[in-house]
Amino acid sequence: MQCGKCGQPAVLVLQHGNLCKKHFLNYFEDKVFKTINRYHLIGRAENLCVATSGGKDSLTVLHLTQKYLKKYKLKATLFALAIDEGIADYREKTLSDLQEFCKKNKVKLKIVSFKDEFGLELNQAFPKFKTNTNKKPCNVCGVWRRYLLNKYAKKFGAKLIITGHNLDDEAQVILMNIFKANTKLAGRLGPISGTGEQEGFIQRVKPLYFCTEKEVRLYAYLKGFKVHFAECPYSQQGYRHHIQAMLNDFENQYAGTKQGIINSFLELLPQLKQAEPTAQIKVCKRCQELANQDVCNACKLKEAIIHG
Ligand code: SF4
Repeated sequence: MQCGKCGQPAVLVLQHGNLCKKHFLNYFEDKVFKTINRYHLIGRAENLCVATSGGKDSLTVLHLTQKYLKKYKLKATLFALAIDEGIADYREKTLSDLQEFCKKNKVKLKIVSFKDEFGLELNQAFPKFKTNTNKKPCNVCGVWRRYLLNKYAKKFGAKLIITGHNLDDEAQVILMNIFKANTKLAGRLGPISGTGEQEGFIQRVKPLYFCTEKEVRLYAYLKGFKVHFAECPYSQQGYRHHIQAMLNDFENQYAGTKQGIINSFLELLPQLKQAEPTAQIKVCKRCQELANQDVCNACKLKEAIIHG
């Protein structure tokens, strides 16, 4: 296989042609920068928080955000924020990769942990939940991660959170919402999450929105990022895992399926945003963070563990 642009050996086969290493890297970076420009994901002179884990997606988005700021001579400051859930034999490895990456690339890194915030790691919290509720590790992890990300991005002065969600992640969550009849929440998805107008809620943006998981993996590999490619040991218990397997199977048989889901969704997004219910945002009585009810979900989970 040869690159359709220069005849060198190809590293990736795309629907519209093959690409060598150099042309793939150009194609990928161009796609990410076009997404940022098209959706105005990064404004001027902001303090940016990049949500990081040390995995391929977060290292890629961190690297490309730095590159974007440099390319467009933007004066925004940037820091990486990582959440240590306390997942044995997994998170410590990705955090070690992240620390190395941040040191090498002179990125300020802040790490906050479940243990410090909620008094116990996910490894300790999950067994208690199993007996009390039918919650899976990802249910607990997702609520606490989102909570800490918003809380600490705000605390460290960020005006925007940049995440490494890729096209596969987004196609999965669109289907999950449909399968679980959560269509009212669908308006919150897309390259920009949230309105950015709610005080206390930091808007999230996704520069890798149109990059497939395979492309991000290849980019991280070709750039030589030190990445621990193993999956979280809990991931197979999650609902998303089954959707992911199904979608990958479909994609193998019908190339372009994931892109088709994203395209259809983006066409519907303006209507979905209009139909989105205006949630009454309150302040949690326990922690004073944003909540839909008197007590936020993160505090409810914590209390459920402590008090059984
Ligand atoms: Fe957390 Fe689930 Fe992701 Fe593991 S797979 S990091 S438990 S959300």
